[in-house]
Amino acid sequence: MKEKLLSDLKGKVCVITGGGGVIGTAMARGIAEAGVIPVILDINEEAARKVADDIRADYNVKAFGYRANVLDRESLEAAKKSILKDVGEIDLLINGAGGNAPQATTKLEELTEDNLLQLDDGFFGLQLEGFQKVFDLNFMGTLLPTLVFTREMVERKKGAVLNISSMNSYKPLTKIPAYSAAKAAVNNFTEWLAVHFAKVGVRVNAIAPGFFLTNQNRFLLVDEKSGDLTGRGQKIIASTPMGKFGDPADLNGTVIYLLSDMSRFITGICIPVDGGYSAFGGV
Ligand code: NAD
Repeated sequence: MKEKLLSDLKGKVCVITGGGGVIGTAMARGIAEAGVIPVILDINEEAARKVADDIRADYNVKAFGYRANVLDRESLEAAKKSILKDVGEIDLLINGAGGNAPQATTKLEELTEDNLLQLDDGFFGLQLEGFQKVFDLNFMGTLLPTLVFTREMVERKKGAVLNISSMNSYKPLTKIPAYSAAKAAVNNFTEWLAVHFAKVGVRVNAIAPGFFLTNQNRFLLVDEKSGDLTGRGQKIIASTPMGKFGDPADLNGTVIYLLSDMSRFITGICIPVDGGYSAFGGV
């Protein structure tokens, strides 16, 4: 290989949905450092603009932020129009918008003979509306931006998509069935689309982050009053061989690798970035 590693990424335009969030911000900064022009989309316009402003100030590179709702095709098309006008053709897509919500979370981890009187604190008490919202955000919120932003990549026969999955896609965690089902669907869709696009130069891969303390899971992992880890937080640390939560910037090596030509013969995979969590049998 004669070309300089990662030189193919210089000046490429990458859309990042959910780019105003904790992990999205870290990825946007990571790819900006690698020479990519990040275009941050978020339902929270202020957050999207702030991430872009900070990147421009900190790295002296181009960066853009727009409002877009990943569940609304019209909103995505409007963002695309602005991007094509202000920035140029879109080369890369990271589907980062996602998350869990308390309305799609059971109170009980499992039913036992002792808690049979609390059936509504488990599966039977799940609010379907909350379930649907979380499923849609994570799955439809990956499918729709992919529909909107990859058409021209296919026409130009060049591009890469990176979906953000989760440990829950392999084995569901207790309490969060909608999130787990949606992330499993994201992995399946990653494989499906990778095959569909394989002969037209657009690669589709995913990463499965382990556990990173962010807004979406803080209520499950840290006690609001004491600031101590909850029992669930402690279990996660005990199940992560490296013994700690990840730092969102830990994802960037894998993100850059999967977006760049370094991984040009790779499509349809999901790489865990998890401090060993998915390799550990628990004993
Ligand atoms: P976060 O809540 O900090 O960020 C999510 C971002 O998505 C927010 O900025 C939010 O405004 C935006 N968003 C929500 N709904 C949207 C919509 N309809 N349209 C556009 N944007 C929308 O969460 P995070 O932890 O940074 O999560 C980012 C991704 O990483 C998610 O897909 C999440 O499932 C995944 N993930 C996180 C962890 C973790 O430990 N935090 C682990 C595995 C996977």
